[in-house]
Amino acid sequence: MIANGIKNNEESLADGHLSSAPTGARVELRLWSPRELAQRLVAWLEESGAKPGDRIGDRAGLADLWGVSASTMREAVRILEAAGILEQKVGAGGGVFFQPREADAIAGVLLWSAALGRIGDAALVRALAEIEGLIAAHAALRAGPEDVRRCERAARSDDASQRDSLFHEVLTECAGNEMLGILRRALAEAVGGRAGEARAAGRSVGGNLDHVAYSHAYIVDAVRTGDAAEASRRARRHIEVVLET
Ligand SMILES: [Zn+2]
Repeated sequence: MIANGIKNNEESLADGHLSSAPTGARVELRLWSPRELAQRLVAWLEESGAKPGDRIGDRAGLADLWGVSASTMREAVRILEAAGILEQKVGAGGGVFFQPREADAIAGVLLWSAALGRIGDAALVRALAEIEGLIAAHAALRAGPEDVRRCERAARSDDASQRDSLFHEVLTECAGNEMLGILRRALAEAVGGRAGEARAAGRSVGGNLDHVAYSHAYIVDAVRTGDAAEASRRARRHIEVVLET
């Protein structure tokens, strides 16, 4: 049974291992966002060796087990249902089932997610900085005038909340390397999740908006001149500064 695979260990939680589920004695509800809980559930499914079709419990029992509110568990299960990983069945014998729609694809996602979950924040940021550096270097080598104009527009976008991700997506398109784009998205997603947690825990995260706008324009300058080494250096520095806490 899957429940036997749960590790009852607070220490490994502090280490950032996502496999830990719940301690027995509930003191207070965990303040995870539904998305954070969903990521932990995925890592747990992967590590517990769940097979397609396994019943993993009922929602109320799962909320209890994980020490989260009923609404957080409901939302997390909904996210994983939408992602084609879990399925809910009502009636006798109902509950929440591990029901990957596309077993191979999901297995890949599970492995990625669990692997990223084990990596510490600093290592994750360094990896993202390296990938962004490669992307900026590729963009500097191959971006034409129209690509440079698109990067400039993205760097100046009016929508401050979207500006950062928009800029990096456009820069990635200009780099024209699909694999770098996939790696960037996976790492940015993992880093973004951690940043969300830090905010929820009341810690501030970097990302001064003036700095972001200035530093994007600075990267575009290097891309425009075709200086790959400089574009790479600026992009790596940008990620380190923005994500350092
Ligand atoms: Zn940025």
